[in-house]
Order: sequence, then C-alpha cells, then structure tokens
Amino acid sequence: SERKARTRKAPAYLTFDDIGGQQRAKIELKEALDFLIKHEEIRKLGIRPLKGILLEGPPGTGKTLLAKAAAHYTNSVFIAASGSEFVEMYVGVGASRVRELFKEARSRAAKENKESAIVFIDEIDVIGGKRDGGQHREYDQTLNQLLTEMDGIHTTDSPRILLMAATNRKEMLDSALLRPGRFDRHIEVDLPDKKGRLHILNIHGKNKPLSEQVNLEMIAEETFQFSGAQLESVMNEAAIYAMREESPLIEQKHLSQAVDKVMIGERTDRESTK
Ligand code: ATP
Repeated sequence: SERKARTRKAPAYLTFDDIGGQQRAKIELKEALDFLIKHEEIRKLGIRPLKGILLEGPPGTGKTLLAKAAAHYTNSVFIAASGSEFVEMYVGVGASRVRELFKEARSRAAKENKESAIVFIDEIDVIGGKRDGGQHREYDQTLNQLLTEMDGIHTTDSPRILLMAATNRKEMLDSALLRPGRFDRHIEVDLPDKKGRLHILNIHGKNKPLSEQVNLEMIAEETFQFSGAQLESVMNEAAIYAMREESPLIEQKHLSQAVDKVMIGERTDRESTK
C-alpha cells in the first residue's frame, strides 16, 4: 500500500474552555497532566512517569477535543493518528508506522522547541484489541510496538512523551495495555447532561446570528442523549434552515427542525447499519 502513516496537526490551538460540559473529565485530565508538567518533582520523589491516559466514552463526546486541549495546557506538540491507520495487509507495516509516529513526535518537539509531546491515538481498540492466540499476527506486532514505545518512556526523556488514546469499547482492550505503567489513567467521557448540552449549544452558537427569541435551554431539554457532535450538527442544520428561508437570523423553529433532522438522521443511520 502507498498509504503513508498520516499524522494530522491540530488546526489552531484549542483550550478546555472550548469544550462544553465534561466538567469531571476536565478536572481528572488536568490532574493527570500535572504529572507531565511537574516532572522534576515526580522524578525526585521516584514516582514513575505517567505514560498513558485513556479516554473512554461514546462517539462524538469530545475525546479528540480533550486531547488537543491537553496539548495546549501542557505546551506540548500534538500528533494524532487513528487506530485504523495502522491496519495493513503486510506484516510489520503497522508496527513501523507506530515507530514513525513516536519518532515524528520527538522530532517535531525538537523543531518547535517544546519540552513535551502528546501522541493521540483515536480508536485504540483497533490495534489494542484482545489478542487471541496468534490469530491476528499483524495486529500483534503493531500492539507490541506500541507497548515497546510506552515502556521506553522515562521521566528524564527530552522531550517527554505522553500517549493519549480514545476508545468507545474499553472492554475490548488487551490487558497488556491496562497494566500499571501503561494506560494508568482512565477518564470517562460521557454523553453530556442538560447543563453540558446547553454549554455545548452556546459554544457552537457563539458565531451564529441567533434571534433574541431563541431559547437554547429548551433545545438542551429536547436533546436528551445527544452527543456534542450531534449538538454541533443541530446548530449547523439550524443555520441551513434559516438560509433556505432567507432569514437573516436563526429562529427557534429552525433549531427545532434541526433537532428533528439530527434525531431522524441518527435513526436511519442505525437502521442502515443493521
Ligand atoms: P469519536 O469517538 O467519534 O472520535 P470524539 O469523542 O473524539 O469522537 P470529537 O472528535 O472530539 O469527538 O468531537 C467531534 C466534534 O463534535 C467536535 O469537533 C465538536 O464540534 C463537537 N463536540 C463534541 N463534543 C463536544 C463538546 N463537549 N463541546 C463542544 N463541542 C463538542
């Protein structure tokens, strides 16, 4: 395959304030990240370094956003990849991509004069799934390489490396990844509650012309079990409805239509994947 290990740069920086809801996840994450920042103290006390943070929760809840905000918070370079990018037909290719990813993190940190780098792997379950007795040899090598990279992280390293990973199926992960010294911290990133939904709607409504009559609290009420990604869709669809009606402002009815549309869209998606 010609496909190269793609590593995506974060577009602009992103802070924890740009993420709606997720109060508990943010607090837990910041606490964990302080380990990366206070590395001198950690080293002096002989505490082993924090190597991995696992973000766990349903799709579209802001795990990638949290990882990006973590990079900003710790003044680290941010390198991201998705587990599916490491799946290849040829044995060894996935493993060498893992190696490249960490190499790139180190060289980018050096180039940008940063003391630390956060490597983010979305859909970690694709490569870190339970190993079943030599069935998936290629996956095994990829996972082994990831474990090797994690084991090679030391507090005295320059730059310091932190691996963050996201999954919505933690129970699928190989126990080797969950052992002490690997992904030590698990942070749950749940669907937002009503307050969180309102926060997210406000964030995505910030740059949109909302009519004064708009009541986002009502929309937050109506969007039980919506993810952050779906709420972002609601705001976007509402703007499209406004445009169709040549309305300069987004009205409450546009938002309600958008809620229905996103809800129905989800349902048909689910039907078609059955
Ligand atoms: P997946 O597991 O599908 O990769 P994820 O949890 O990583 O999902 P993100 O990629 O972080 O989700 O979120 C997708 C988009 O949804 C974001 O770019 C953002 O527009 C919106 N979004 C999701 N959660 C939030 C949130 N908590 N606050 C604001 N926007 C959010």
